[in-house]
Amino acid sequence: MTKRIFNAIWIVTLSVFLAALLLFSGVLYGYFSDVQREQLKTETVLAAEGVSHQGKAYFENIDIQNFRITWIKNDGTVLYDSESDSDKMENHLEREEIKEALSEDFGESSRYSTTLTERFLYCAKLLPDGSIIRLSISENSIISLLLGMLQPICTIFALAFALSLFLASRASKKIVRPLNELNLEKPLENQGYDELSPLLRRIAHQQNEICRQSQSLKQKQQEFETVTSDMSEGIILLNQEMNILVMNPAAKRLFHVDSSCIGSYILSICRGPELRALLQKAEKGLHAEAVANLQGESYQINASPIVSDGKVSGIVLLLLNVTEKEKLEQMRREFTANVSHELKTPLHTISGCAELMVNGMVKPEDMSRFSSQIYGEAQRMIQLVEDIMQLSCLDEETLEPDIENVDLYEVAQEAIRSLRPKAEQYHVQLNLKGETAIIQGMPGLLSEIVYNLCDNGIKYNRKEGSVSLEVKKEKDSAVLIVSDTGIGIPKEHQERIFERFYRVDKSHSKNTGGTGLGLSIVKHAVRKNNGSISLDSEPEKGTKITVRFPLKKGNMETIE
Ligand code: ADP
Repeated sequence: MTKRIFNAIWIVTLSVFLAALLLFSGVLYGYFSDVQREQLKTETVLAAEGVSHQGKAYFENIDIQNFRITWIKNDGTVLYDSESDSDKMENHLEREEIKEALSEDFGESSRYSTTLTERFLYCAKLLPDGSIIRLSISENSIISLLLGMLQPICTIFALAFALSLFLASRASKKIVRPLNELNLEKPLENQGYDELSPLLRRIAHQQNEICRQSQSLKQKQQEFETVTSDMSEGIILLNQEMNILVMNPAAKRLFHVDSSCIGSYILSICRGPELRALLQKAEKGLHAEAVANLQGESYQINASPIVSDGKVSGIVLLLLNVTEKEKLEQMRREFTANVSHELKTPLHTISGCAELMVNGMVKPEDMSRFSSQIYGEAQRMIQLVEDIMQLSCLDEETLEPDIENVDLYEVAQEAIRSLRPKAEQYHVQLNLKGETAIIQGMPGLLSEIVYNLCDNGIKYNRKEGSVSLEVKKEKDSAVLIVSDTGIGIPKEHQERIFERFYRVDKSHSKNTGGTGLGLSIVKHAVRKNNGSISLDSEPEKGTKITVRFPLKKGNMETIE
């Protein structure tokens, strides 16, 4: 800006100076012309006096420097010329100044001389003898007069040029200084130019507006961060160039990034093909969702475009962890398939037996065997349905638990009582030892736990084996240990036996009326009673299952 002002000033200064110089030269030229004309007139009158008194002798004494003097007879013949040979000169009667002098005593003109090829001023004076004396002077002499002034003019011009540069530089700096010193932080406090006041007022107004808007934006951002910071779902806000504007803590944790990633391109922190496809769809203004594997877990990604004025100005990405949901979905599918499979076998058996009986293909002596097979399969189905119902009850998290003080030892006694006939049938000995241990739990579920574990101990035992139950208090826990001398569980199956419908030996389980759901019910029931379960088993040696529950306060073992 300084440079532009500087250039403008010195160009204007110099232009004005040059224009003044030209005008001045023109005025000088006019002035010199007038002076010269007057001088020529005077000289002509003097020369006319001299010639009329001295005749031709006048020309011998005359000292002619600038002028040209010509004497012309009244018929136009040139009698004398100071510059050219008079004999060779043409008749001058038709010259304008001569004609004027002949008629009016004095004549003057200005024209281009063909004789001397220059522009001349002419003055002619009629003598008493009728001849004419004419003086002329070249106009070039005026120009040379002016040219004589060229050197001082150049000096003045150079001085004016330097002065204009100096003054322009100072003036431009002086003009710009207040502008440079403007305090735009506090526009209304500036004292500079009055002309800037409207601009400064506008800047102050806009500053207030920006300040207000940025505060409101900050507040909204804080609100957004507060709302999204505790969310377990990841939220990412992108601009139209797919750069990250906002990312909540859950999303940062998911992609292992910190706040420095704000502003980076989204695909630089997550390169999944699913995300790329989603973004391409959202860029076109369409809502898109897909499930992608991120950091080993399944995430559902929803991409919603933000459309303003018909254009996509950003995209919101919502990342939901659906690993658990997918697992549950898978379990549900497996469970349905298992239930159908488990029900299919007894139903086929019942249907087969009944068909034979209906068609009269069963001998009377086999009738009771067929009937008892139908009964057995029906019992198995009833057991299966009961187990499934129990499991679904346990799955129902919303059910209000029916908590009571329960003595685990009494529960074990009850289980032994009801299982004694079965134990005798399997030739297995049942033992119980221990002490009273009061816990707060659900009596039905606790009986189910002890019954199922004890039942398994009998079913998967060997002849003349034994099942021992022990109830004891350990620090703040009530401990139930069910150990048998049975077939044991191979290491590779130990982790899976608590899964629904999982059996180590399917035929053995079915032969003993097992449904594959007993331990799943136990596991659920233990969890519902805030307990824990552990397994220790060795094939052909036996199995020991330990269940711990928190003891009721006041019933804890005193440590000495
Ligand atoms: P089931 O109705 O078949 O007994 P469970 O869920 O109770 O189903 O047990 C799952 C599987 O674990 C059984 O099929 C059996 O193979 C194995 N199992 C459970 N308890 C014992 C045990 N005490 N000794 C050996 N194997 C056992």
